[in-house]
Amino acid sequence: MSAPTGTPTSTPLPGDAIVRVVVDSPLRRSFDYLPPEGPAVRAGMRVWVPFGNRLRVGVVVSLAAQSSVESSKLKRISSVIDREPTFDVGLLHTLNWAADYYHHPLGEVIATALPKLLREGAALQASEECWSLTEVGREALAGGEPRRAPRQRQLLELLGRVSPEGHENGWSAAALDVASPAWREGTKALRERGWVIRGDREMTPPQGPPVTPLLVPQPEPTAGQHAALEAITAADEGGFHAWLLHGITGSGKTEVYLRLTARQLARQRRVLVLVPEIGLTPQLVGRFATRFPQATLAVLHSGLTDTERLAAWRSTHSGSADIVIGTRSAVFAPVRQLGLVIVDEEHDSSFKQQEGGFRYSARDLALVRAQREGLPIVLGSATPSLESLHNAATGRLTRLSLPQRTAAAQPPTLRLLDVRGESMHAGLSTTALCGIERHLAADGQVLVYINRRGYAPTLACTACGWLAPCLACDARMTVYRQADRLRCHHCGAERALPRQCPQCGYAVKTVGQGTERIEEVLGETFPGVGIARLDRDVIRRNEDLHAVVASVASGAARILVGTQMVAKGHDFPALTLVIVLNADHGLFSTDFRAAERLAQTIVQVAGRAGRAERAGEVLIQTEFPEHPLLRSLLEGGYDAFAAAALEERHSAAWPPFSRLAALRASAPQAQTTLEFLQAARAAGEALDAGRVRLLGPAPAAMARRADRHHAQLLLESGERASLHRFLQQWVPVIETLPTARRVRWALDVDPLELF
Ligand code: ADP
Ligand code: ZN
Ligand code: ZN
Repeated sequence: MSAPTGTPTSTPLPGDAIVRVVVDSPLRRSFDYLPPEGPAVRAGMRVWVPFGNRLRVGVVVSLAAQSSVESSKLKRISSVIDREPTFDVGLLHTLNWAADYYHHPLGEVIATALPKLLREGAALQASEECWSLTEVGREALAGGEPRRAPRQRQLLELLGRVSPEGHENGWSAAALDVASPAWREGTKALRERGWVIRGDREMTPPQGPPVTPLLVPQPEPTAGQHAALEAITAADEGGFHAWLLHGITGSGKTEVYLRLTARQLARQRRVLVLVPEIGLTPQLVGRFATRFPQATLAVLHSGLTDTERLAAWRSTHSGSADIVIGTRSAVFAPVRQLGLVIVDEEHDSSFKQQEGGFRYSARDLALVRAQREGLPIVLGSATPSLESLHNAATGRLTRLSLPQRTAAAQPPTLRLLDVRGESMHAGLSTTALCGIERHLAADGQVLVYINRRGYAPTLACTACGWLAPCLACDARMTVYRQADRLRCHHCGAERALPRQCPQCGYAVKTVGQGTERIEEVLGETFPGVGIARLDRDVIRRNEDLHAVVASVASGAARILVGTQMVAKGHDFPALTLVIVLNADHGLFSTDFRAAERLAQTIVQVAGRAGRAERAGEVLIQTEFPEHPLLRSLLEGGYDAFAAAALEERHSAAWPPFSRLAALRASAPQAQTTLEFLQAARAAGEALDAGRVRLLGPAPAAMARRADRHHAQLLLESGERASLHRFLQQWVPVIETLPTARRVRWALDVDPLELF
């Protein structure tokens, strides 16, 4: 019943008589079916197909004239779910491209692109409960019945009229709620008499082109914004063009996005905006909503329930959403008449899927999608990734700069604070505390950044050296004082906070500090001053984030303590001082991207200071004030840092000057993991590796996580094409290795983190 994709065909059938379908499965192939009885199918439509011994949802990827499978053995598509393709041809191309590039089965790639309920066969069109009269009911109504039941009579009369939405026969439950709040009381009796019936009616989304923007007050563009807008709009009609909008924080990038969006809406085109994971979207979504009050926004992020996600997808697909804003997987959103793609904070690592089997970069796929669909795309950032800066240098991206903050705001002054000679108070130097006092006295707000959540990184025994190990990981457990627990940040394990050493019974003490501790110390030092905390433990839901942001925005909280969550997107005009507590962690990492990430964080956090009229000040506590990375960043800014870092990458032949892929595996036993990776390496060496180097296998820096042993094999090549030629031959071989069944493995193309 099936044929590998692309094999020669033998059984001729007239016309496009064969339908090629993929299903959500690890099989790297499509399956051939006979077309369904009834309406014709098209590529991109979802269908129910017999698969094994059950029915499954599949997506039609193409139609063909013939199959290599004998026609008598071909099964027929059971039914067609979609009336319009779920994915149009452009999007199908991008999905295909992704399957090739990430060497991942197309069926699973498509499944990733779809919300769960659509994967399970839900209709693309929303439907609603509706009630209508039967033939008998009409006669009863005409005959003036029922005479002694006014409720039922009233409902019959309502249903006998044209509904507010203009339906001749049938009212939606929502319309009935408005017209007669107690209407349901009459339904039971009327239904039993066969006078009314309940049904589901498809909701018709508002038709027509996107709205034309209203004139909402907007600032006059600065010279920089003007130049950027001119350049981008001049290329509007010219198809694909990729821009890198490098604007320091507060330079007005968002304002550029808004104006570009207005222009697209005026051209009757829609806009897709990709943003990093939660922690930043509320303000951006708010600005789009305020600027385009009559436009419909669809917001897609990981915090949605399945039903909410389906609704957002439906409004995207139907075209009722004019602007679609979403995190990573929104790169697959089926936006119609798309005119522009924006990727905000393009350097953010949350655009890369780093878990599971299909590890894609939404930023990179957005570029591919824009190219396939012939659209302009804008990648914006205050701290562009080194990849994008390199792409700008080689001409693949056109760089536009906004080097200045908008009129009122001046960039903050950055200063390194050498803590070696300072007296410290739970991680805060005296100078930092004095700075906080000064800014609070001057009515400013203060942000304290520390890249550690919890109360303290760990708990230590004062006698025997016990250090709160996690039993399932090569890691220490974090102290949570308020919750009175020890928690592992890697596997989620928890236990009660011990009062004395579980090993020898001596006293225990916390080591170091996290956000919870800093919050406590600041509370003791500045009694009566409102303090808010922002980290993943506080923010479980979007509403929590709103609450924290609101407390800072209203001035109820005057000090904000947080992890990198504070670095993103928030605009607090009264914030005048930023303190970076533990910058040193990023300085000596084995990961070649650590320096880039540290520089980005410092610049982004610093960018929160002095967003309005008042000048901002940034203090970076460090024990290594002479470190070349910190020096280049402070003396020459992000550009100087990036130039130095790119130079280093070049001489070490790291990306973007080479291409990487990592084969990652884990198993309960270290030996099993290594055996698989060794077998994979041997299989690779048996192929023509060309200019691909295989490095490893090597255990991960934290080898044991959640009781599994992690290791990886790294592949490196100076040429993208050779790497992909190699992967294409190699991945199918890996899949058939006997050891592959005993591990969890995944291929990570362009990995962001090497462990
Ligand atoms: P970014 O996204 O680069 O951080 P924003 O677009 O948020 O910058 O702009 C920073 C602040 O400056 C915002 O409060 C915004 O309303 C304001 N702003 C943006 N463009 C202008 C302009 N042309 N004139 C005056 N204020 C502006
Ligand atoms: Zn002990
Ligand atoms: Zn653990």
